[in-house]
Amino acid sequence: MADLKDMKLNDAAVETETTVAANNFIHNMIDKDLEQQVYGTRVHTRFPPEPNGYLHIGHAKSICLNFTTAQKYGGKCNLRYDDTNPVKEDTEYVDSIEADVKWLGFQWDNLFYASDYFDKMYECAVELIKKGKAFVCDLNAEEIKAHRGTLTEPGKESPYRNRTVEENLALFEEMKAGKYADGEKVLRAKIDMSSPNINMRDPVIYRIAHATHHNTGDKWCIYPMYDFAHPIEDAIEGITHSICTLEFEDHRPLYDWVLQELNWPNAPRQIEFARLNLTNTVMSKRYLKALVDDEVVEDWDDPRMPTIAGLRRRGYTPEAIRDFCERIGVAKANSMVEVSLLEHCVREDLKTKVESRNVILDPLKVIVTNYPEDQTEMMVMENNRENEEMGERTVPFSRELWVERDDFMEVPVKKYFRLFPGNEVRFKGAYFLTCNDVVKDEEGNVIELHCTYDPETKSGSGFEGRKVKGTIHWVDAKTAEKITVRQYDYLMLPDEEGKNQLNPASVTVKEAYAEPSIKDAKPGDRYQFFRQGYYIADSKLSTDDHKVFNQIVGLKSSWKK
Ligand code: ATP
Ligand code: MG
Repeated sequence: MADLKDMKLNDAAVETETTVAANNFIHNMIDKDLEQQVYGTRVHTRFPPEPNGYLHIGHAKSICLNFTTAQKYGGKCNLRYDDTNPVKEDTEYVDSIEADVKWLGFQWDNLFYASDYFDKMYECAVELIKKGKAFVCDLNAEEIKAHRGTLTEPGKESPYRNRTVEENLALFEEMKAGKYADGEKVLRAKIDMSSPNINMRDPVIYRIAHATHHNTGDKWCIYPMYDFAHPIEDAIEGITHSICTLEFEDHRPLYDWVLQELNWPNAPRQIEFARLNLTNTVMSKRYLKALVDDEVVEDWDDPRMPTIAGLRRRGYTPEAIRDFCERIGVAKANSMVEVSLLEHCVREDLKTKVESRNVILDPLKVIVTNYPEDQTEMMVMENNRENEEMGERTVPFSRELWVERDDFMEVPVKKYFRLFPGNEVRFKGAYFLTCNDVVKDEEGNVIELHCTYDPETKSGSGFEGRKVKGTIHWVDAKTAEKITVRQYDYLMLPDEEGKNQLNPASVTVKEAYAEPSIKDAKPGDRYQFFRQGYYIADSKLSTDDHKVFNQIVGLKSSWKK
């Protein structure tokens, strides 16, 4: 409760810098490859999103890793739409992905669509069939599953496994020609039904889907499976290091098998890293899409969403997100990162960059009874306490002011130094004011404070007569600008079992009073609302006549190193 604490503008508790993850095991592997000239002097990475939703903060980790790795080695990084699944993909997502990657500060060397390789992939499948390494199977999905075996038991071979090459070629051609319904037949790699790795037990590599594809339209009714398509995509593009998340570790033998059977020279190397998990955050695109479809949130760019679009609208900066991704580093084991670290990075970035404004979120009227009725003074305020270069502005002061309701207590608790009857307080950038009378309505609610000011104590006058312990901010009532402020809590809160559940109170909307200069705020402008937190003028809802602000992050940090 102590005033001094409330006044803290930066998070002293986390002042010590986190050491940047020094040991990036992926870079060590690349160093070795360069030493042994596995790919000559080349380093070529890619970021391969599936355009079935908006990118989220987890993708940001992958984007930063792939692009900065290419930068570090003077290599290249492709943006590739992994759009081999026709059903869930959409051009809206394609557009958003490009905007998000650019906004994060990266520029791809090439932009590719995996679906442009469908012809090549089909050829590759035919090649495998001709080598006797793939066969058309009539088992349905359930039967295939039943044949697959378990971790401790080998699988059973499909009765269709020994079809001749000619038969397989003819059937695969018929699959392509649309002769069969979805699920009626699949193409499977012929590997080893007793492999200890279940992914190697004759995995499905092509399936039938009579669906219109966002890029290839109705040209195809068979589509390659991820495990078959991905290594081919990488190889076609000359990728050297194919970085993906840990759940694909068990798929690596299949990745290597595909390229080996196709005799691909200089086959890319798949390297897995731990995906980002954040407290109070759900990142599955499927779940995020459901939140949008069910109108739980406004849209994909709702400021509460962990999407890049949401974080951008919320006011997070690309610099802060990149800093966060660097600090968390890359590991080979899954872990949970505190969302407060991300918030800390945002604060650190904004601290010296944005101007301060006075805003009263929960107003209480103050009448300065000894201040002339028709007088207004322009008070000089610094724009950023930590960065003098940001200069000063002037703020009007007159007889009627707004202060925060919780800067007053009729019966003060111990160590409360702000307004209470008889106490003198510094009004930041103006004067010392003493609270004399409390005006209440019929129900006993405090509606007004009557104070007197001491002209001697004007800010900047060098007054040293006496000290006061409390400093509060204020807004001139006559010139105050009404704004709407949206404050956020986490969208997800853990229940007793630690499982994330929707927080029913993740947004609070307030009508607030701001100093008149807030009128100049353009959509996307960020400020520190003095003593309150960082805010951004909403890019969708803010207009010239009425400003709507989103809380970016509060001032105090709960992040512990
Ligand atoms: P989701 O499960 O949210 O749908 P995804 O992995 O299916 O995510 P993709 O579009 O396939 O989404 O992902 C593109 C790239 O981003 C992949 O290389 C993937 O490994 C990476 N990626 C996705 N989520 C994370 C995460 N939480 N942390 C790190 N990288 C991620
Ligand atoms: Mg995926």
